Amino acid sequence: MSELQQRVLEVQARIRRACESCHRDPGSVELLPISKRHSIPTIQEASTLGFHLFGENYVQEGAAKAESLPDLCFALIGPLQRNKAKPALLHFQEIMTVDRPSLVQRLQQLTTELDLVRGVWIQVDLWGEATKMGGCPESGIQELLDLLGEDPRLPLRGFMAIPPPENPSAFGALARFRETWQQRLGHRLRLSMGMSEDLESAICAGSDQVRIGTALFGTRD
Ligand SMILES: *Cc1c(COP(=O)(O)O)cnc(C)c1O
Repeated sequence: MSELQQRVLEVQARIRRACESCHRDPGSVELLPISKRHSIPTIQEASTLGFHLFGENYVQEGAAKAESLPDLCFALIGPLQRNKAKPALLHFQEIMTVDRPSLVQRLQQLTTELDLVRGVWIQVDLWGEATKMGGCPESGIQELLDLLGEDPRLPLRGFMAIPPPENPSAFGALARFRETWQQRLGHRLRLSMGMSEDLESAICAGSDQVRIGTALFGTRD
């Protein structure tokens, strides 16, 4: 068994155990592999183990990988500048870091021009970390939702967050936040939170998708 295969099994076992401990169906939690700064052969190997969608932080790096691996899909999990919106839309099937009106408008303009449909996630920042990581504050969510509306070219998948690691109540706060907006909108929103270090607590708080880099692919240089 390869090292990667072993790590995949370990992470899947962690997800399963976490689900058991909080009485969730393990099938309800998606594992999104984060392949930033890992090589194309590594991604290819992961694809033989059943992964089809990979998270990447940088537009340029992700675009190059997407060109080399046309059968796979990529999700952008890093900050997006408006001037990179076009290559991002061309090479990524999902944009997970939508966090401001000007970006939504640019994405709407380009998806119309290019005739594309791309799943989007709103990156939320409930703690004012925005300058570091990106993310829309709570006060800006309604405006983004109004802009996205029912735009068929930018279907809203849910909320994505990178909460501060030293805050143990962050996942619970995000889960309540998702719940509130789900009720207001009257439809389901997914919640993407939890990384290599903290996937268990994210899952037990209600995460639908954990984004795992290090625990699957090893440390990045
Ligand atoms: C790098 C990254 C991850 C994966 O982090 P690990 O700790 O390596 O699992 C998840 N989400 C985002 C937004 C990232 O940038």
